[in-house]
Amino acid sequence: MEIQEIKAKSILILSKLPDADYVVNPYIGCRFGCTYCYASFMGRFVGKKVADWGEYVYVKVNAPELLKKEIKKLKNKGRGKSILFSSVTDPYQGLEAKYKLTRQCLETLVEYGFKGTVSVLTKSDLVLRDVDIFKKIKHSDIGMTITATNDSISRYFEKYAPPASMRLKAMKKLNELGLHTYVFIGPLLPHFVAKPKELDELFGAIASTGNKDIYVEHINLSSYILERLRREMKNIDKNILKTFYQSQDRSYREKLNEIVMRLVRKYNLNLRLDSTIYHKELNKN
Ligand code: SF4
Repeated sequence: MEIQEIKAKSILILSKLPDADYVVNPYIGCRFGCTYCYASFMGRFVGKKVADWGEYVYVKVNAPELLKKEIKKLKNKGRGKSILFSSVTDPYQGLEAKYKLTRQCLETLVEYGFKGTVSVLTKSDLVLRDVDIFKKIKHSDIGMTITATNDSISRYFEKYAPPASMRLKAMKKLNELGLHTYVFIGPLLPHFVAKPKELDELFGAIASTGNKDIYVEHINLSSYILERLRREMKNIDKNILKTFYQSQDRSYREKLNEIVMRLVRKYNLNLRLDSTIYHKELNKN
């Protein structure tokens, strides 16, 4: 595992995501190393290959200092705008316990009196460390990605991330503390989770944490992601891999959407963006 401290040139970046105006990524790379991660392309900025994803983290040690300067450019103290931590890294991966860059950036936003929404998205219960700061932020929105209820599935696909059971516990705690939360159910994992019974368990477990808001995302199998995924899953039964290819069919997704909508109603959840998040279809059927 390679760790390097670097100085970034900027930190508050305009976003193309549907629910965020700006993103802050205090790290390049992510130790959690999820098999399906779309951010693996980030390696090109630091001379790494997609295959190296999970094996390096570049730490932007000047992130809080940069944010202090860049936040001043927003009009009206950012009223009506949203900032997401993070889009291409996990802001609470292990190194955050040491470097506290996400924490310092959040503190910066509090000190500045940022009036927009601060959203975080993580797979780690380390997010609980910063509850004191979230309470000081006027509009905070704390998201946990949860893709399975079975820890062996999360361990298989999200190698170094805290297991699903820890994330569910953390989400329950955040809800008990009265914080505004959401769960990101994505990607819907073909064969392992994207089936009626397994999804029912997953949605039920998420609802039982007291969480209301969810995003749901179909798996993104762009060519660079698929290449890495095939390598990471090289020992798996070929029939299982086939279900991953099928997941790119329109008909497969439509059936899955029906299950998702049924479960949204059953567990009285709020599906943000009003539909599952799509990526391009590879197949026509
Ligand atoms: S936690 Fe997020 S950024 Fe990190 S490897 Fe997994 S999907 Fe990628």
